[in-house]
This record gives sequence, structure tokens and C-alpha cells, in this order.
Amino acid sequence: MSHTTVYLIDDEPEMVELLSEVVEMIGLNAQAFIQASVFFEQIEVFAENSVLILDLNMPEMDGIEVMRRLAGMNNPPALILMSGHDAGVLHSAEKLCEAHKLELIASLGKPLSLDRIRKLLNQYTNRASAEGSQKVTSNNINITPSELEKAINNNELVIHYQPQVAVATGMLTGVEALVRWQHPVHGLIYPNYFIDVAEKNGLIGILTQWVIRAVVNQEKQWQEKGMAVTVSVNISAENITSLALPEQLSKLLEDNKLDPNRLVLEVTESALMGELVTSLDILTRLRLKGLKLSIDDFGTGYSSLSQLHKVPFTELKIDQSFVGKISVDDEARAIVKTCIMLGHELDMKVVAEGVEDKETLEQLRLLGCDVAQGYFISRPVAENDLVEWVKTRL
Ligand code: C2E
Ligand code: MG
Ligand code: MG
Repeated sequence: MSHTTVYLIDDEPEMVELLSEVVEMIGLNAQAFIQASVFFEQIEVFAENSVLILDLNMPEMDGIEVMRRLAGMNNPPALILMSGHDAGVLHSAEKLCEAHKLELIASLGKPLSLDRIRKLLNQYTNRASAEGSQKVTSNNINITPSELEKAINNNELVIHYQPQVAVATGMLTGVEALVRWQHPVHGLIYPNYFIDVAEKNGLIGILTQWVIRAVVNQEKQWQEKGMAVTVSVNISAENITSLALPEQLSKLLEDNKLDPNRLVLEVTESALMGELVTSLDILTRLRLKGLKLSIDDFGTGYSSLSQLHKVPFTELKIDQSFVGKISVDDEARAIVKTCIMLGHELDMKVVAEGVEDKETLEQLRLLGCDVAQGYFISRPVAENDLVEWVKTRL
């Protein structure tokens, strides 16, 4: 196993010393700094899979500035952030981390628990060495628009379905269709690596069409087997600019004798940022034709409230960044609780995504959330595995 390097930057020398000892005690290589400027002077190339434990509050160059500089560098270390300030400061630092596309291991309030740091580092190094050999290379592959277009036309896309269950009873209420690319060389590629390419290169129209057709075919087969489930499909901003969409969709459903209210279209808040008049027209007609609409990743976009007011959504999906933390973070819990109340007041079904453990599911039950989706219930799975999963639940 390679020796993970852990960089430390904190202006308190005693802290740096203490942390170095912890790092070395678990067999990792520590490099400590009490000034961020010295860190940047001395380290030009980061070690592979390195970690940086970073104090946010430092007099000369603070942690936020360090993050900004790291974002422009190659192969930046994964971060453990520390701050003596309130939880709000750590939360915004986490958001910044995400915006800079830096990997965050954890953010910790002071006083620090050394035991926690030890655990986090152990987990991270174990994971890094396990992934090293088999990780999909999607990070490094460069997807070209023409390659993606070919893949769509050659049916190299596949759909995995993730079950959604009623929080109160555990019964299956529906599934979300999530697209993947079964690449002949690189293996299974996740949508975060290619949806963006499709959106920026005029391919999202054909991609969405492919997904919807596949879902409709699937739904038809399920219906024949007597397994009628609601399917949610993600659509992009670009998809709701075509005025003919509602007619095309309802014709497709009609041709296949499918009930339109079995199909839920998930739209993110940011998708509604553009031409609101056109998208409102389209979304309203979709509702009139009986399809359902869900607002996805709720709480992460802008002007959520006014959109909820204007668009006839039937479902609200609380973003996983809040859901995942409700059992450890009071602020996240308050946000989830408020989203549930808001959704219910507006007569919407409320779905929590990113449910990763029993405790979170239990909290959601106490808060009165309707539906849960997440790894604790099931990962997204291929169609035959879904059928198996459903059988075990009956
Ligand atoms: P999303 O619609 O918010 O989908 C939820 C994502 O969270 C999925 O990632 C799912 O695998 C993941 N997830 C589910 N449960 C858990 C959990 O318990 N913990 C964690 N950490 N993650 C969980 P996936 O499949 O990689 O999809 C990522 C995003 O790509 C989706 O986010 C959606 O915005 C987009 N996407 C997926 N399929 C399509 C598609 O057919 N068309 C379009 N336009 N976008 C798609
Ligand atoms: Mg979704
Ligand atoms: Mg989501």
C-alpha cells in the first residue's frame, strides 16, 4: 500500500504538532505548515491521494483562500476542514468546496476529536487503496460529443432503476430511472460525466428521447407482468423548450396504452432559470395531459419558493445534501422538516433522496415525510435485479 501524505495547515503550532503525531501514529506521512503561503511555496506537486487538514481561521492567508488556490491546481488533496466558528461557517465552506470541485472528506468544528480524525483518515486511505485498482476511469476519460451521439444511436445507454418506498409502510411506490453509459472500453459511466456534455452540445434532446422510449417500453412490459409502477424520469432545461413536447409525450403514452399519471418528470430548480414563459407553458400542458411533475434537488437552486408557486408540481424531492445529514446536523434537520411542511401545505408528495441509513429513515418517519429513496433502501439496479428486489419485498 502506498503511503498517503497528509498535509496540515493551522496557525496554532501546538495543534499542528498534535495532528502530526496522530497522522504518523496511523502510519501516514505528515507534512505540517503554520503558514499557508509557505505550503504553496514548498509544495508544487501534490502526492497521489493526498489529504489536507485545513484550518479555516488563519491570520495571513485563510482557509477559504487556500481552497480557491487549490481549485486551480492539478490533483489537489482531499480536504478535512476545521473551524472554531459556528456550523454556518462550516456549511458555507463545504458549499465552496463543492463549487470548486474539491473533494471534501469532512468538516469539523473545534475542539477537535482526534479519534474522529484518526477514523476519517483510516477510512479515506482504505477506500483510496481499494478504488485505486478498479475505479472507473471516467475521471480521466475525455468524452467527445460525437462519441456520445454514436453511443446513444448504438444503444450503449442503459437504465438503472432505484426504488422509492413509502416511509410509513416500506411499500414500493415507484422507481427513478437513472441513465448510465455501458462503454465498451471504460465500463459503466455515470451520468454526471456525460449529461453535461449532452446538454452543452445539443444532444440532450435525443438522449432524453432515448431514455423516455426505454422507460415506456419497460413500463409496458411491467404492466403486462402485473407490476405497474410509477417511473420518474429526469429531464433537463433544454428539454422544456420544445413546445411540442407535451403532445409528443402524450401520444407516445397513448400509443403504448399507458396511463400518463404513471410517468413523473423530474425537473431541477435551476432548469427553470431560463425562459420561464415557455417552460411554464410546457409544464402546465404536461400536467393537463395527466403527467406528474417533480421538483428535483429541492433547496439547492435559486428562487425555489416563487417557482413552487408558479409551476404545478405534484412532488417535491428534498436534496440529498440535507437528507443525508439529518441525524447529525440540526440545521439540515430543520431544513428537511420545513421542506416537508411546505410540500404538504402545497398538496405535494414529499420525497427524501439520499437515505443512507436506518437512523435517517427513522427521522424522516418522525417528520412525516411521504417517500424515501436511497442506498439504505436500494441502490439503482438493472431491471432484472429490480424485479428480484420487488419479490423480496412482497
Ligand atoms: P438525481 O436525479 O438527483 O438522482 C439521484 C442521484 O443520487 C443518482 O445518481 C443516484 O444514484 C444517487 N443516489 C441515490 N441514492 C443515494 C444515496 O443514498 N446516497 C448517495 N450519495 N447518492 C444516492 P446518478 O445516477 O449518478 O445520477 C446523477 C444525476 O444525473 C441525477 O441526479 C440526474 O440529475 C442526472 N441524470 C440521471 N439520469 C438522467 C437522465 O436520464 N436524463 C437527465 N437529463 N439527467 C439524468
Ligand atoms: Mg432525479
Ligand atoms: Mg436529486
